[in-house]
Amino acid sequence: MCDKVKIDANPIMMGECMEAFKDGNVKEGRRLIKEFLQSIEDSGQDHCNCKEPCMYHGKCKECVLQHRGGMDHLPFCFRDMVNERIERLSALTEHSLKERI
Ligand code: SF4
Repeated sequence: MCDKVKIDANPIMMGECMEAFKDGNVKEGRRLIKEFLQSIEDSGQDHCNCKEPCMYHGKCKECVLQHRGGMDHLPFCFRDMVNERIERLSALTEHSLKERI
């Protein structure tokens, strides 16, 4: 067991890794992804942040496939990423969208 890894908004993945791909250094980008995934594996932490008591907790393949099948909403772990972007767009109308929801 190693230290817990910051999965969401990981500074290396958002920084060095994205930069490597933008610079066309695919090899380095992929190396950093591999290192990121391995560090999560080595940490032994629960990578799933969903709180629902679900038999598919942490089983990403099954989770994503059933969400795709239902086409109703995204898996829990994607919400922060999507909400962050929606929040920025919503600011364009001073968040008046919430009055219509
Ligand atoms: S895809 Fe599903 S199982 Fe995997 S981390 Fe996200 S919510 Fe959890």
